[in-house]
Amino acid sequence: MRKIAVAKLDALFAAMAKTHTVYLPADGADGRAQYTRWEAGVVYSTALNTVRSAKDFFFPQTENLMDFKMEGKSIELIDTRDEGEDFIVFGVRACDVRSFDVLDRVFLAEPVDSYYAARRAHGVIFSMACTRPAETCFCKTFGIDAAEPAGDVACYIDADTLYLDAKTEKGEAVLAALGLEDSDTAAVDAQKALIRERLDALPLSGLSAAAFGGDKLDEYFERPEWKTLSETCLGCGTCTFVCPTCQCYDIRDFKTNTGVRRYRCWDSCMYSEFTKMSAGQPRLTQLERFRQRFMHKLVYYPANNDGIFGCVGCGRCLSRCPISMNIVKVMKTLGGKNV
Ligand code: SF4
Ligand code: SF4
Repeated sequence: MRKIAVAKLDALFAAMAKTHTVYLPADGADGRAQYTRWEAGVVYSTALNTVRSAKDFFFPQTENLMDFKMEGKSIELIDTRDEGEDFIVFGVRACDVRSFDVLDRVFLAEPVDSYYAARRAHGVIFSMACTRPAETCFCKTFGIDAAEPAGDVACYIDADTLYLDAKTEKGEAVLAALGLEDSDTAAVDAQKALIRERLDALPLSGLSAAAFGGDKLDEYFERPEWKTLSETCLGCGTCTFVCPTCQCYDIRDFKTNTGVRRYRCWDSCMYSEFTKMSAGQPRLTQLERFRQRFMHKLVYYPANNDGIFGCVGCGRCLSRCPISMNIVKVMKTLGGKNV
């Protein structure tokens, strides 16, 4: 365990920035925290979490995949990626760190997504324990301990001191180069106990996911409650765009002056054209699209991933949906007393 005075945070970020590009939560002009590239003058936010999750660093909203240059009948494939930069994402909350595991099981399974894999290899995660969890947080429902965040380096902050605990070789290598002061664990142990006390007092602390899982397809697919749950959904896709675990994307081509560029961008199962094929649209109604999103997180994903759920309880969909619909309401409606 190392430590540094909070008053010296700028010096810490400057030292990190000598070898890595550093991103951290900073308050924007609208007062909301967003991951921002650190440079002199950028101040680490005191907000609990960012509006957009840290998945953007590994699975960006849009990215160019390749170019096709055409001359006569020949087509040249040009790899346009530029992912050689080592970077640090500082201040990632425990829920968002878990979301990388969810994404890894999709993008690092065969065939490996080499774009995602390269970013994972170059990124170093500095997580941050949640001393002030929000009322919308329910990470504990999915077995996540916000007092013990994973990542390459787990951080703990109080009014005066930042504590840094290396969890991986990658994290230790970064910390070793920073020459920080060693620390005992007493202050962090006390903070962990306080965090767990606060987590237990949250409104959603008792929420259980035990009624859901990979074997619940028959139990939930045809439930009549989907109609009421989905009928006011606008299909805006906000819930999918702020969600750290949503991983659907589309791949498209467009013509440039010299050839064709292929790119991918996030898609949303809430959109009417999602997975539309030449044979037609597989989900014709918003009810089917809405059901797909929640069944994926609570049933299909665990069915294919050793029981792990596709939600990390970050609470973003609870605070961003314009009609106040969210996964907690779905769980409580379908699961009844068991939730
Ligand atoms: S559930 Fe809410 S955020 Fe998601 S698509 Fe429907 S209206 Fe939009
Ligand atoms: S479904 Fe909602 S609470 Fe769960 S990870 Fe996605 S945004 Fe967070």
